[in-house]
Amino acid sequence: MATRPRPPVIAGNWKMYKTIAEAVSFLEALKPKVRDTTHCEIVVAPPFTALRAVASAADGSNIRVAGQDVAPEKEGAYTGDISAPMLREAGCTHVIIGHSERRQYHQETDEDVNRKIRAALEAGLTPIVCVGETLDERERNQTEKVLKRQFAGGFKGLTGQEVSPIIIAYEPVWAIGTGRTATPETAEESHRLLRELVNGRFGKESSQQTRILYGGSVKPENIRKLMEQQDIDGALVGGASLNADSFSAIVHYD
Ligand code: PEP
Repeated sequence: MATRPRPPVIAGNWKMYKTIAEAVSFLEALKPKVRDTTHCEIVVAPPFTALRAVASAADGSNIRVAGQDVAPEKEGAYTGDISAPMLREAGCTHVIIGHSERRQYHQETDEDVNRKIRAALEAGLTPIVCVGETLDERERNQTEKVLKRQFAGGFKGLTGQEVSPIIIAYEPVWAIGTGRTATPETAEESHRLLRELVNGRFGKESSQQTRILYGGSVKPENIRKLMEQQDIDGALVGGASLNADSFSAIVHYD
């Protein structure tokens, strides 16, 4: 595969799966499989309860750990929430923000996403910011409009310097957990649009640095074709990230 303009990222979103013991044994299984991997960054996002144990198991390896969500505030009377400094303390380097399941089941808005991005950046966490249209929006030809709205709201008031290290995940909602992947060409269209939006708002340097991952039923069988696209810099993987063999096969897409 040709040399890539940006270091790729393969990230696994475990959602509400895995006990602490299961999470640690996943790590022990994954580590030897990716020990020599240098062509991409590897991130796993366990549930909150397993973060500390996974971070300890990943210590000294090339596997980084992400939270699946973050509170916009640092501390306070917010029952059930976890702040960015708490994620840092637990050993996270990254955090997923604005996943469509958070938007759908917890009514997260673009403004919430914006506040969470700021909180993550302030704590030194790399945000993985999810955007993407629903099936209904795609069928009504609203994809571009939705991505523009999510981008404008989520990235409001940020500087180019802040945006460059942010990872964007384009996740068409109709492809998440459905087994229906966007074709590489369809995904690339949205990735190109997102990179143009970064370029228009934050300049060329940021647009060339920002990694844009694809998410939605990524599997060992389809990752290679997706990674051949110029603006696809990696993947955010749900279901196929729960098994160390399939996740490592995705990591070894090349
Ligand atoms: C996700 O939850 O971010 C995701 C892309 O899930 P799946 O790979 O299972 O579609």
